Amino acid sequence: MYNILIVGAGFSGAVIARELAQSNKYNILVVDERNHIAGNCYTQRDNETGVMEHVYGPHIFNTNNQNVWNYINRYGEFMPYTNKVKAVTKSGIFSLPINLLTINQLFKKSLNPQEAEAFILSLGDKSIIEPKNFEEQALKLVGRLIYETFFKDYTIKQWGCDPKELPASILKRLPIRFNYDDNYYNSKYQGIPKAGYTQIISNLLDHPNINVKLNTKYNSDWNKNYNHIFYSGPVDAYFNFSKGKLGYRSIYFERNIFDGIDFQGNAVINYCSNDVSFTRIHEHKHFAPWEEHAKSLYLKEFSKETGFGDIPFYPKNLAYDKHLLLKYKKLVHMEEKVSFVGRLATYRYMDMHQVIEEALIIAHNFVDYKKNEQCGNFRSLSINI
Ligand SMILES: Cc1cc2nc3c(=O)[nH]c(=O)nc-3n(C[C@H](O)[C@H](O)[C@H](O)COP(=O)(O)OP(=O)(O)OC[C@H]3O[C@@H](n4cnc5c(N)ncnc54)[C@H](O)[C@@H]3O)c2cc1C
Repeated sequence: MYNILIVGAGFSGAVIARELAQSNKYNILVVDERNHIAGNCYTQRDNETGVMEHVYGPHIFNTNNQNVWNYINRYGEFMPYTNKVKAVTKSGIFSLPINLLTINQLFKKSLNPQEAEAFILSLGDKSIIEPKNFEEQALKLVGRLIYETFFKDYTIKQWGCDPKELPASILKRLPIRFNYDDNYYNSKYQGIPKAGYTQIISNLLDHPNINVKLNTKYNSDWNKNYNHIFYSGPVDAYFNFSKGKLGYRSIYFERNIFDGIDFQGNAVINYCSNDVSFTRIHEHKHFAPWEEHAKSLYLKEFSKETGFGDIPFYPKNLAYDKHLLLKYKKLVHMEEKVSFVGRLATYRYMDMHQVIEEALIIAHNFVDYKKNEQCGNFRSLSINI
């Protein structure tokens, strides 16, 4: 039996642990510095309302990958769920993503899909040929009214900087649908686990070859005791920030109990203007419409810079970060028996289905590699950074 250490009990760590455990060749220890498993996907029932709370922010599972969907359904029952987001703006309340209803309501028109497409095209700023930043890209694609109604203030609140400072690449395609489809995701499979994400991760980790230690921060001195380490913590933290700190936005929540059945009538409502400092409100009972609760739990979400002790949530990926990342990438490639996996160790925003897909590939490649080579170090394919 090889000894394997897995740092992080989120989806990355749990899927790799499970796949390795099933080959019956490895003793696996999973450590996490938090007092719970499931990483940022952690869910728990709120004591006062009985509502299933998505503690680190709302998580809707969606994927086009049938293998990932089949895989995850083996570890928990999923209920059908369609995410429909509303937006509070200075011009009223609209449906997101911007669709035909949004356009017709905002411009007080009755356009059909073809007319709407031509209309939006006419709104774009033709003087911008090569957009140099996010604002120019938005103005070129959708014009000033849509940009200022839905994007400008929201982006400032979310990223803490002027949209002129952000790369144009953030807004790659036209963020508009020319039909009345208000399903937030385009994915083929979409759902929310009936018993929460924590239950799924717990089922993944429930194997005789896996031990889990919580409240345990990884220490690189332990590497010598293991044949291989899968690390899903922040890549800069692994190297003690020796090259500098990668930029992340963090979020925090103001938690409220509503002493009634329904606080806002929808799971997620974005607040697009700077009248309020929060970016959105999520009311968690709406993520489980199959349940009934007399009271409700809603969270106001605020965005901020990541300070000392804050959880890093969204990679900023600015020019400085990209430059740092190259330096860390060199260090990563010098690590002999450590694979860097998941959203933090590869410094990418990743949805759950992407994390699971990559974790399955990494685990299977590792098992196959070890079949052929009894010793030596597995060079992970996980280094997408
Ligand atoms: C607000 C928000 C909403 C999201 N909504 C969705 C959604 O709707 N749909 C979707 O598909 N995805 C969503 N995501 C993305 C989803 O959260 C990630 O895909 C997923 O959590 C990544 O799993 P992971 O295992 O790579 O990382 P994590 O879940 O972050 O797990 C990493 C774990 O490593 C631990 N760790 C780190 N460093 C150390 C250390 N030194 N020692 C010990 N333990 C350590 C951490 O405590 C953590 O538990 C959302 C993310 C956010 C922030």
